[in-house]
Amino acid sequence: MNHRFAARIRGLVQSEIRRMSRESDAVGGINLGQGICDQPVENPIKAAASAAVRDDRSSYSPFEGITELRRRIADKMASYNGISCDPDSEVLVTVGSTGGFVIACLSLLDPGDEVILFSPFYGYHKNILDLCGATTRFVETRPPHWEFDEKELAAAFGRRTKAVVINTPANPSGKVFRKHELDLIGKLCEQYGVLAITDEIYEYILYDDAEHLSIGAVPGMEDRTITLSGFSKTYSMTGWRLGYVICNESLASRLGVVNDLLYICAPTPLQHGVLAAFDLTPEYYRNLRADYARKLGWILETCRDIGMQPFEPQGAYYLLTDLGQLPFATDVDAAAGLLNRAGVAGVPGSAFYAAPEAGSRQLRLCFAKQDEDLQEACRRLREAFG
Ligand code: GLN
Repeated sequence: MNHRFAARIRGLVQSEIRRMSRESDAVGGINLGQGICDQPVENPIKAAASAAVRDDRSSYSPFEGITELRRRIADKMASYNGISCDPDSEVLVTVGSTGGFVIACLSLLDPGDEVILFSPFYGYHKNILDLCGATTRFVETRPPHWEFDEKELAAAFGRRTKAVVINTPANPSGKVFRKHELDLIGKLCEQYGVLAITDEIYEYILYDDAEHLSIGAVPGMEDRTITLSGFSKTYSMTGWRLGYVICNESLASRLGVVNDLLYICAPTPLQHGVLAAFDLTPEYYRNLRADYARKLGWILETCRDIGMQPFEPQGAYYLLTDLGQLPFATDVDAAAGLLNRAGVAGVPGSAFYAAPEAGSRQLRLCFAKQDEDLQEACRRLREAFG
């Protein structure tokens, strides 16, 4: 039978991130494609989740999440992000930060509303905006430092602009938005009555002197910012699907109802388990940064040695690289070539741009891998292309 699918999913296909994971698995490759993050979860967190399962804390939580978790999230928002929020009315626990993005977009966007997205972008942001019927306006960030043109940004704002999406640190570029950039975005948001939806899932993964700043802490943005984050990347639990949304009560009360409708609640035993993450010491976060800095060093050096031209990220755990001297005409050929010849998967750069030719000489490599696997991937790349 030929199904007639809804117009809203016309053109929606499996992401390149997913496709490369499947292709990598099929040939037993080392997957530097999908941002899987395969470090082990800290033992106290695992123990707390196991205890919650064992003790049958397995029924629904309130749609906004368990009270104790919202309290701990609110404390963290104050101390790390400089955002004060009421744990009972301004915090929603969601099914990953993607779940948060979905409820924000579904709650706020009507077809025809315009949303500004910085390019290169995370494809899931773009596709969820498409699903909501929003019109995306792209503002380019340019390598090597991924700055944007202020005039171009100002020109993207207009009468129909409903929201601007920020992703800092950004996937795939690793851009970390700086104070003057957030201030400017904030000023434009106020001027045009626009919301900021900011995905800060990589907030603890920063290099050199990069500092994580939240637009929700910019004066005047308190009531027009929806901050998304989660536990996946910071605690290497991408499959737990636990994230959260911070926004003022008038937004949260409506987003919460949509969260209920779509998801009922985030998995309850895992909400109990992740509480233990808040008892980790500052050393955990220092080690996290040091670990990723070390891994970044290996992959950067390897890419340079085989003739690629990588763009050094300021945060997150992806390396976006120009193909440089690699013997491939396009990003898609390069992704296939790396997998066939080195058994290493990456994601074609065009997956992160609206105009395919924009990323057609780029590849994204994720280095959130165990040291041995990443070193083996580097060894294979050198052997195949060195
Ligand atoms: N955010 C991760 C990535 O960009 C993984 C999420 C996904 O599978 N889409 O690879």
